[in-house]
Amino acid sequence: MAIARKIEGFISQSSFIRKMFEEGMRLKQRFGAENVFDFSLGNPNLEPPAAFGERLRELAASQLPGKHMYMPNAGYPETRAAVAATVSESQGVAVAADQIVMTCGAGGALNVIFKTLLDPGDEVIIPAPFFVEYRFYVDNAGGSSRIVPTRKDFSLDLDAIRGAITEKTKAVLINSPNNPTGKVYDRASITALSAILAEQKRVIYLISDEPYTEIVYDRIEVPGVMKAYSHSIVATSYSKSLSLPGERIGYIAVNPQIDGPGTLMDGLTLCNRTLGFVNAPALMQRVIAGLGGIKVDVEIYRKKRDLLCDGLASVGYRVVKPDGAFYLFLPTPIPDDVRFADALREKRILTVPGSGFDGPGHIRIAYCVADATIQGAIGGFGEVLREFT
Ligand code: PLP
Repeated sequence: MAIARKIEGFISQSSFIRKMFEEGMRLKQRFGAENVFDFSLGNPNLEPPAAFGERLRELAASQLPGKHMYMPNAGYPETRAAVAATVSESQGVAVAADQIVMTCGAGGALNVIFKTLLDPGDEVIIPAPFFVEYRFYVDNAGGSSRIVPTRKDFSLDLDAIRGAITEKTKAVLINSPNNPTGKVYDRASITALSAILAEQKRVIYLISDEPYTEIVYDRIEVPGVMKAYSHSIVATSYSKSLSLPGERIGYIAVNPQIDGPGTLMDGLTLCNRTLGFVNAPALMQRVIAGLGGIKVDVEIYRKKRDLLCDGLASVGYRVVKPDGAFYLFLPTPIPDDVRFADALREKRILTVPGSGFDGPGHIRIAYCVADATIQGAIGGFGEVLREFT
């Protein structure tokens, strides 16, 4: 079939997760779902908090006129106001309702931002390892991704970022807590990164993709970007904090100190209707407007993290517990992470090779799964480690 050559290339670049997904389906059919240990997808296994269901039922029963109609493209004014209040509190900067655009998840938010900002050939600097879809999002807007390494502990390599800046750089995209590493960037690195961007002659936007900010452990702080850098834009969603990835609801928050906020907001609002999704889902906008401050029970994920990390350590792995999100980016005992993931697959343990995230020599283990899946896999992880050491 004659599909675009570029998309053919993208399909093969993103094949790791797809391959694991397909393999998972095959293995589950053959051996039964309970005998397959599937850590391949970041699909939260917790149900949304009870307050979500209550609000949904209440809204479904309500007789609000026109509740399924189009609304202003940036979203319902009352939803934007509720979100602005939450963002103002978490960022420590007064953000108004008209600096918020409701979107179809964080993925929608990032596509809208890139479409609004990028001219053909503009570059976006992305620290690796990174969420696989970023490259495609940047490409959708005609931009080009400039991948830079992080340090050994996955913290930002500020020299690498400074060295990657060219006259074409339009933005730096960061993601903390990070998928796939679980790393949270500390305040000192956010401040230092902001200083590097502020000293440039042209405006470089700092885009912060934050769907995991609510999922952090051991009282670690996730410093906001808005206080640190005036040309910052936040993209986020309720996919993980409320376990709603299938409902496609998120938002963009623009720093009130940004230059030319009116034009930027006009651009974001236009692109929010021209990329194919037209507006964020009406019902979900109304639901989340009444759920400020509510999130899934993060303690459950903390226990899963500890169950996994302590279990892997007990069978001989060197494990550093991640600060947030629900991923462990585990170093492999051999450089060939694909081979190691294949060996795990033989034991019906599905993980994703780090190469798929530009982080070779690792596997990503998504531990947003049942405790029994974690407990059932530890023995197999140990056996595979012994095969290679
Ligand atoms: N950004 C990161 C880092 C993610 O891990 C994901 C989803 O897993 C997304 C964005 C997309 O999130 P959403 O489902 O809200 O579009």
